[in-house]
Amino acid sequence: MKNLLNYCAIQWYERELENKNIDLEQYLLQHKLDGVEQYIYNGQLLLKSYADISVGVHLAYWPQWLEFWKYNKSNKTIVVKNRHEWIEKIRTNIKAALTQKPEYLVWHIADCSEEETYTFKFKHTDMEVVAAAAEVFNEVVSDIPSNVWILFENLCWPGLRLLDKDIIKRFLSLINKKNIGIILDTGHLMNTNPLIRTQTEAVDYVCRIISELHEESQVIKGLHLSCSLSGEYQQSFNHCLPDNIEKADLMKHIISLDQHRPFTNKVVQKIFNYVQPEYVVHELIYDNFTDLDNLLKQQFVSVGNI
Ligand SMILES: [Zn+2]
Repeated sequence: MKNLLNYCAIQWYERELENKNIDLEQYLLQHKLDGVEQYIYNGQLLLKSYADISVGVHLAYWPQWLEFWKYNKSNKTIVVKNRHEWIEKIRTNIKAALTQKPEYLVWHIADCSEEETYTFKFKHTDMEVVAAAAEVFNEVVSDIPSNVWILFENLCWPGLRLLDKDIIKRFLSLINKKNIGIILDTGHLMNTNPLIRTQTEAVDYVCRIISELHEESQVIKGLHLSCSLSGEYQQSFNHCLPDNIEKADLMKHIISLDQHRPFTNKVVQKIFNYVQPEYVVHELIYDNFTDLDNLLKQQFVSVGNI
């Protein structure tokens, strides 16, 4: 099992490392991490290549794309003229990702508008989203070498939420590629149940969902391990899209829903009785590396020597 850190080579983090007089490789060694899952969100590398330590690459994602794909209706997140241009954009993103020689790529399967993140009244079903996502994926499949795994990630929005084994089965049956699996994001799964209040309840929920997937749970090859206890927040706001919403408000809302905090309770170890992942990405939100030191320590103490 490889323990990985989520990393994006933006100027902010690169400067942080410089100020600490340390490079990323050394930082990983200090924390006994085996590499990074690097986030590459456009068609070129950011400041630096991390090919030597990138075990995985998280590809770009578009939160809302389904209506564009089906009816050519553009929105704020899709700013291309037509399907062809979008597919080309995905292709250049994959090309940039492959320069990092990853063992796997991560692909989100979800569709959700800004409005839906507030109302929770979803326009599309999981099945509609996964069927269209498979169409998009199959358009670019020939760009991905067969030995590179594709790990599809669950979100709490319509798509691959992992709440129904038949949807997973159907989705994977539509994909024209071998070497495919799922990277289970524990926080995203917790976000699908607003009644959860504690880490113990959250872990019980994650384990129950995994066991209800029966043989479909075998396709879980990795974990994005983090904790998100947003149930209280989910029940606290009025479920209408606020007027004149600014980008910063939306970000605050999304981070309140999808928290990416470390587990601080050893109960998390129970998850490893239900899945034996090859990759565990400690996918935490961090402002700086001093902050990250503490977050990682908390999660490592909780996870123990799995
Ligand atoms: Zn994730």
